[in-house]
Amino acid sequence: MTQTLVELIRIPAISPENGGEGELKKAEKLTQILKTVGFDKIERYDAEDKRVPSGKRPNIVAYYYGGNTSETLWIISHLDIVPAGEESLWTITKPFQPIVKNGRVYGRGSEDNMQPMVSSIFAVKALKDLGVKSKRNIALAFVADEEQGSTYGIQHLIKQGLFKKADLIVVPDSGNENGSFIEIAEKGAIWFRIRTTGKQAHASRPHTGLNAHRIGMEYAVALDKLLHEKYSKKDEYFDPPESTIEPTKKDKNVDAVNILPGEDITYFDCRILPSYDLDKVLNDIQTLATEFEKKTGARIKIEIVSKSVAPKPTDANAQIVLMLKEAIEETRGIEPKAGGIGGGTCAAFFRAIGAPAVVWCTIDEMAHQPDEYAKIDNMVNDAKVFALLATV
Ligand SMILES: [Zn+2]
Repeated sequence: MTQTLVELIRIPAISPENGGEGELKKAEKLTQILKTVGFDKIERYDAEDKRVPSGKRPNIVAYYYGGNTSETLWIISHLDIVPAGEESLWTITKPFQPIVKNGRVYGRGSEDNMQPMVSSIFAVKALKDLGVKSKRNIALAFVADEEQGSTYGIQHLIKQGLFKKADLIVVPDSGNENGSFIEIAEKGAIWFRIRTTGKQAHASRPHTGLNAHRIGMEYAVALDKLLHEKYSKKDEYFDPPESTIEPTKKDKNVDAVNILPGEDITYFDCRILPSYDLDKVLNDIQTLATEFEKKTGARIKIEIVSKSVAPKPTDANAQIVLMLKEAIEETRGIEPKAGGIGGGTCAAFFRAIGAPAVVWCTIDEMAHQPDEYAKIDNMVNDAKVFALLATV
């Protein structure tokens, strides 16, 4: 399992939005690995995307048939990863030169999402090697584009009609350090870009221009404060219990220190409790932008990068929730609890079509950070839970 994890980390799969080539190379490597396991059927569902060199974003589904062919257990992991970020912050190894140390495998994508991916593959491999027949069909889906909204990944698969309401769906893409938390609800999410346009000038003659950078920052700070004050409710069912509102990415503006920027681009990532209406939040963002435009003479355009309204949560007594609880209890002797989180995962798309999906895995929550690692024990122990889900 460790070797497989290492091999997968070595091949980056970065979205075109983040300057990458997509997932094809990783998908090809994965297909080789899957072929050695002996699945009953391996299928590709590519989504066309002209922005990547191959023109396609690969999605793979590997089937292992069980006794009850009307019931399918899906385990869904994603091929794509986020960029490595500032490489100097990686202290153990380089992001795509994975190393094994102290029971951990370090590298970008190790935990998010290769660890659960390997767990799911080896759960099936173990059943197969031991000659254990699965009670139900197992379908492992390896999808593209999870980090950027799933248009070319899970949403593409849903459009192919692969999922039924009676399916049991596990998305192992979020969790906690001992596997005691099963995610059955998510917050709504809005990502947006603030494009502030003023007038470029020589920095020594600011009166001849309009500094978009200053206005953009002032607006961002004011907006941050407004949203935090207005959307401050807490819901202890969620972790974290409040809505999160964070200024994040910043696009490059001018090339030299002595140029007064005529354009400023900043992004926000907001995760809003489902009890709030996302359109009301957006309305506040727009209203404040209009106010700043009037006050400053700059143009402030709000551009939605993505918006997802939180779907109805998965029922806490749905079959997959109860099965998972039982499997965790049996293998670890702990009693897991079901609740909500802030991070959006592709489980939301399943909930939106009425299919009960749970998000679960055992991780130290190293995703998107420098020195990201996966614990080998977690990878192995989650495989046991996945195998039990197929057989109980
Ligand atoms: Zn992930």
